Amino acid sequence: MGEVLGFPGSTARKAQRKKKREGGTLCRQGFHAWEVDKNRTFDVKQGKLITLRRCRRCGAEETALT
Ligand SMILES: [Zn+2]
Repeated sequence: MGEVLGFPGSTARKAQRKKKREGGTLCRQGFHAWEVDKNRTFDVKQGKLITLRRCRRCGAEETALT
């Protein structure tokens, strides 16, 4: 016989995300404050340059072909 462990009020925390900072309202609407990180541009063999953009508010990153 093992011990019966009870978990009272066990809630599912699946869709729970932490908000890093306030001011992410615009980001949610798709208006990110993109900043081009010039230190992290990559030259692709195909002759394309990938620019990494990072949002200074929410920290979202996006790569774009230049
Ligand atoms: Zn953002």
